[in-house]
This record gives sequence, structure tokens and C-alpha cells, in this order.
Amino acid sequence: MTDRAVHAYFTKMRWGDSGKQTCPECGTIDKHYWIASRKQWRCRSVGCARMFSVTSGTVFSDHKLPLKKILKAMVIFINHVKGISALALTRELGVAYQTAFVLLHKLREALSRKLDRSPLAGLIHMDGAHVSGKMRKPRVKLPTTKMQARDRLPPDAFPRHPNRRIVMVLRDVYPEPGHGARRSIVYIAMSEDQRTIMSLAQKYIAPGAEVMTDELGGYTKLSKLFRHRTVNHSNEFSTDEGVSNNQAESFFARVRRFIIGQVHRVTPHYMFDYMNEMAWREDTRRDRPTEKLDWLVKTTFGDWSHKWRYYWLGKQRPVKVKPDGDLMNAQELLMTPAEIKKLMESLRKPPGTATGADAPSNAG
Ligand SMILES: [Zn+2]
Repeated sequence: MTDRAVHAYFTKMRWGDSGKQTCPECGTIDKHYWIASRKQWRCRSVGCARMFSVTSGTVFSDHKLPLKKILKAMVIFINHVKGISALALTRELGVAYQTAFVLLHKLREALSRKLDRSPLAGLIHMDGAHVSGKMRKPRVKLPTTKMQARDRLPPDAFPRHPNRRIVMVLRDVYPEPGHGARRSIVYIAMSEDQRTIMSLAQKYIAPGAEVMTDELGGYTKLSKLFRHRTVNHSNEFSTDEGVSNNQAESFFARVRRFIIGQVHRVTPHYMFDYMNEMAWREDTRRDRPTEKLDWLVKTTFGDWSHKWRYYWLGKQRPVKVKPDGDLMNAQELLMTPAEIKKLMESLRKPPGTATGADAPSNAG
């Protein structure tokens, strides 16, 4: 592909076939003056005269990379089914590590802008996995008996790693077996407890859904809200009636491979971006690569980067990204114990007087 063809492709994805562009400054849609030597347009609107390029006002504004390399990076990003590390991209593109790192994160940011967080309906598989903040193994192994004694103690007996996070996933599964999952929602939680689970269920599962989980205690109250079925993983992966949460497990299997095989380590700071990327890969696994590329280009060209612009000049994201992709405080989306209690009480009322309406909205 020539440079000109890449430019034409980006232009088409951003503004369509009309040959007209939208000025990022004043919004005028027109055939603006094309200045070939600068590969820029000058706005035709009186009093604006802003110069802009195909990447102005997108996540790639102020880019120094040739457009061809940006396109190549996107193709690589799409084609690697288990993700790619910044170091690997550095070598593939022949750019600095910093460039590759920010480029990948800008793509991830674009993915998180297009999140579909509407409640899942139908058959849902839900599970959590411990992804970050595992304690290092001691340098010297403790004698077996002591290790066993340690295992018998409650988890609170040992300090938790400050980076400890649980990735929760909810997946809408095709009713016909063998088709996998349709849409996934990920959430970064502090623990897989009842409070987290009930908050997520309220927010992301539509009434009338059927939810399948493992037998962890935190899930038991789901039966008050939904048709809830469990599988006991110490006995089986799927019951005789076909109850399993295998689609959630399969998501985590890929997440593990992504972490072990590509990025090696995920800290809470960017965990949502990585997990959402994996969810996107799963959900779009059957789309044609060209469709995905068009979609990714349109998405990245839809808005500029709020989190990664000037990153290496010191403008680094100060707070953790929250499950919705927003910058928020980690516990905000969770219900308080009082709210959970209120919810449970409302569910105990006989049908007819029941509510849903006075359930806490727990919106962020
Ligand atoms: Zn203008």
C-alpha cells in the first residue's frame, strides 16, 4: 500500500466518500483547501482558517509516525489473537519502545470508548479470577507441615498484596451448545464477594436471565434475582444437565495466555484496558479482519486520546481506570452493605409489591 493509499483510506474511514471534511476546530463540513505539500487541509470557513490533517483531533494527533506504520500497527494488533506486547511491536514496526507502548494503549483506549455495557440477557456465565498481586513464593520453602498449617488458616491471617485484584467476567452465551459467547463484560474488583457480585448482577444482568456460576458462597444470593444454577468444580466442569460456567473459564484461559505469553505482568493501573482488550478479541473472534480494521480505524479516529496524549512528556494518567473505562474511584460502583440489605429485603416481599425501582441505582 502506498502512502497516498493509506492516507485515502484513513480519510474515507474518518469522513466517508463525499470528499468533504469536517473542520475539527469549527465543525464546518466542506471541501476544504487541500495543501498537498503539507498533506493538510485549510478550513474554508471565514474566521477559522485552521490547518488540519487526517489525524487532527484523533488519538493520533501530533503523531510523528508515518501513517503507514500506524496502519501496520493496527493490522498487527488485530491479527494477534492473544494480544501483543509493546516490546514485540517495537521490533515489528522498527520504532522505539515508548512509541509502541503508547500506540497500543491508544488502541485500547479507543476500544474502551466503544464499550457496550448494557445488561446481558438470556444465558449468562459468570466468574472471577485472581489476576494480579499474587504474593511471591518464599525464597526458601517452608517445611511441608508449616505450609499445610498455613493453608488451614483463614486468608486474613496473611496480608494481602496491595495489587491484588479480581477480574470478574459476565458472558452472554449462545443457547445452542458449541457456539460460545456473544458479548462479555469485564470488571475489576477488589474481591469476589457477595457485595461485588450482587452489584454487578444488578447492573449488568437483565431480569429474567439464567445465570450459571461455580459454587462460591458469594453467588448464592443470585437465586433471589435470577434463575441461578451452579456447577461444583471439585466434581465436574459441566453437570449432567449441562450447567457450566465454561465460557467464563475459557475467557480466563485466554487471559492467562495473554499474560504469560505476551505482557507477563498486569498491574491494577491498566488492568481494565488489558482485560477489555481480551473481551473485545473474544467477542469479535468471528468478524472478518477487514471489518475489524475498518471498525478500529473509525473508532480511533472518532476522538482524540484523553489518557495517552503527551504520556512521555509526563502527562501520565493519575488515577486508575474504572470498569466503565472512566476515571473513577475503585469502589464507587459497588453497593454498600446497607444497600445490599435493602435490596435483599425488597426481594423478600411477595411478588406484585416487588420493586426493582427502589433498588439502588449504583451508577457511577
Ligand atoms: Zn474551521
